[in-house]
Amino acid sequence: MTTPTTCAPATGFGFQPEQSIPGRLGRCGVIHTPHGPILTPAFIVVGTQATVKALLPRDIAALGAQAVLANAYHLYLQPGADLVDEAGGVAAFMGWQGPTFTDSGGFQVLSQGAGFKKVLAMDVTGLADDDVIAPGKDRLALVDDDGVNFRSYRDGSKHRFTPEVSMGIQHQLGADIMFAFDECTTLMNTRPYQERSLERTYAWALRCLAEHRRLTAERATKPYQALFGVVQGAQYEDLRRKAAHDLATAEVDGQMFDGFGLGGALEKQNLGTICGWINEELPVDKPRHLLGISEPEDLFCAIEAGVDTFDCVNPSRTARNGRAYTDDGWYNVDTLPSKRSFTPLEADCDCYTCTHHTRAYLHHLARSKELLLYTLMTIHNERFHVRLVERIRSSIVDGDFEAFRTEYLGRYEAKRRSRQ
Ligand SMILES: [Zn+2]
Repeated sequence: MTTPTTCAPATGFGFQPEQSIPGRLGRCGVIHTPHGPILTPAFIVVGTQATVKALLPRDIAALGAQAVLANAYHLYLQPGADLVDEAGGVAAFMGWQGPTFTDSGGFQVLSQGAGFKKVLAMDVTGLADDDVIAPGKDRLALVDDDGVNFRSYRDGSKHRFTPEVSMGIQHQLGADIMFAFDECTTLMNTRPYQERSLERTYAWALRCLAEHRRLTAERATKPYQALFGVVQGAQYEDLRRKAAHDLATAEVDGQMFDGFGLGGALEKQNLGTICGWINEELPVDKPRHLLGISEPEDLFCAIEAGVDTFDCVNPSRTARNGRAYTDDGWYNVDTLPSKRSFTPLEADCDCYTCTHHTRAYLHHLARSKELLLYTLMTIHNERFHVRLVERIRSSIVDGDFEAFRTEYLGRYEAKRRSRQ
C-alpha cells in the first residue's frame, strides 16, 4: 500500500482515493481513522444500540466487517451519552476494536416512534406545504428553525435536539465518524418546503461545524472525530447540487467537513442519478456515505456513482426472520425446500454458518424458534453484504467493474425471476 497522501497526521483521519472506475465517479480508496483503516467501498454494519443484534464483537470482526454504525438517538435515550463517554466511547463500551460511526439522530428523531407516515405525512394531496407535517396530537416531532422537539419512543418523555445538542451527544459517544444534524424530509414534502428545509439544514450544518470545532478543542486529549455534512434536497437536481456545493465549501474558523453523507429519501430508480449529481459537486479527496441501502443492485449503482460507504439494518433484520441472501437471490430458510437440504445456506460462502451448518439445521432452528437462528443467520447475511462489496472493490482494482456487475446482477436477477 502506498503512503497516505490525504491523511492529516494531526488528526489521524483522512481519505486516500485509489483506482477509479473508468469514465465514472466510482472509486476505491482507504478511509484512515484513529481506530484503524476502512478499505472502500465498504459495507458498514449497523449496531443501533451499541450491539449488532445477536452477534459477539468477535463475530463482527470474523465476518470481515470493518466498522460499526451506532445510533446517537437511541444511545442518548438509553443508557445516556454521558455514560458511554465515561466508558471511553462507544467502541470501548461495546468491546469493538475497530472504527465506529454514529448518525446525528436527525432521521430517528423525525421518523421514529409512531412511524414515519404518522409523523411526516407522505400524501400531500390537497395539503398546503406547511400541512405536510401531521397536526396536533399525532405529531411526535416538531421542527423549528432552531431544532426539533420530540417525544421519546420509549416512555413518551419530552426532549429537544439542536445542532449543538447533537454534536455534544456525538462527541460523548466518541465515534470516529459523526454526522451533522439535519432535517430529513420525505419525497412527499412540497418543493417550497424542501427549499426552506434546505436553508435550515445548511444553517444547522454551520452550527454543527462551530460546535464540533469548540468540542474538539475542549476534548483535545480524545482521538479526533471526523464530522460529515449531510446533503439533502430530495429528488431535485438543483437543490441537491446546491446543497452539495454549499456543504463542500462550508467553513467555520478553518473547520470544514471531513466527509459527506447522502441523506433523505431516495427513490430506487433515481438512486444512481441523484448520487451522481451530489458526487459531481463534492471534492474527490473526502469520503461519502449513503445511509440505508443494501440490495445488491443498489450497491452496484451507488458505488458506480461515487459512494464509498453504506449502512443498512436490512441484512440483520431479515436474517432474524429467516431470510438468507445468496448470489442467486434470497430465500426463506424456514420453508420446505430447506427441510432436508444438507448443504450450506450458500455453497461457496466462507462464513462461519456456511462452513459449519446445513440448511436443514437452520430450518429446524427456525421452526423451533431457537435463538441460535438469529446469530447464525445474521452472520451469513452480514457476511454476504460485506463480501459482495469486497468483491466489487476487487473488481474496481482489477479494472473489471462493468463486467463483474453485468455477470453478478445477471445471475442474481435471473434466479430471482425464476423463483417468482
Ligand atoms: Zn454464509
